[in-house]
Amino acid sequence: MHDLSRLSINQLTTRDQWSLPEAVDGYARAGIGAMAVWWEKLRDVGADYAGRIIRDAGMEVTGYCAGGMLTARDEVRWRRRLDDNRRMVDEAAAIGSSCLVALGGGLDEGDRDIEGARRRALDGFAELLPHARDAGIVLALEPLHPMVCASRSVLCTLRQANDWCDALGGGPEVGVAVDTYNVWWDPELDAQIERAAGRIAAYHVSDWLADTGDLRFDRGMPGDGVIDLGRLARCVAAAGYRGRQEVEILSHRWWREDPNSVVATVIERFGSVM
Ligand code: ZN
Repeated sequence: MHDLSRLSINQLTTRDQWSLPEAVDGYARAGIGAMAVWWEKLRDVGADYAGRIIRDAGMEVTGYCAGGMLTARDEVRWRRRLDDNRRMVDEAAAIGSSCLVALGGGLDEGDRDIEGARRRALDGFAELLPHARDAGIVLALEPLHPMVCASRSVLCTLRQANDWCDALGGGPEVGVAVDTYNVWWDPELDAQIERAAGRIAAYHVSDWLADTGDLRFDRGMPGDGVIDLGRLARCVAAAGYRGRQEVEILSHRWWREDPNSVVATVIERFGSVM
């Protein structure tokens, strides 16, 4: 039996199989004591109920996903999204999450001003920060792979996330989420992980399949792809990260499998390749 005290599982890993209550139960039954929660799954049952079942199961919450995405050009839509982010901070607090994972957001239809979108995203984080601080929730800025820049995230590299943390004052209420799938290719990765020492709020793990068929929903199970996950785990540990490794696999292939065997495979790979 592997020591699972450093393992967490993001519920997107069993997105199509399990509701939030089913995921809490399924992970706990497998001996996993931590998970990350997806906002739509939480809103299916409500934050109070979600908080109760998570506490009752003794489950730690390594992240609430996903806030941010504050790139709308239209002021009304931008404000509405900011309000929704404030609600997500409250939901994160209600389930005892350590952080709200915050994404950069993509480009509006017809928008060709990427720097303008980046400015709005950063302005949004700045406006959200006081509310997060009051709620005791860390905003974990997660850069996504540049191939999804247009649709999901004008925040593309760990250097940029570090720069944004600095621009936001560098206080303890803002940090970064290092996701192996998004950053593994970056020649600056080691240096930027080192620079992120003390502000790594989450560490997400999945593999990049050499013949990936979908940029968002064909993530690999750890060990099935090209990333040296053991080395990256040592890198974040050397930068002082003491939190759990959160396995986060968005994959049509794994969403078709029996969820209990998906979880069993995660545990096996945690022991053998992470
Ligand atoms: Zn992630």
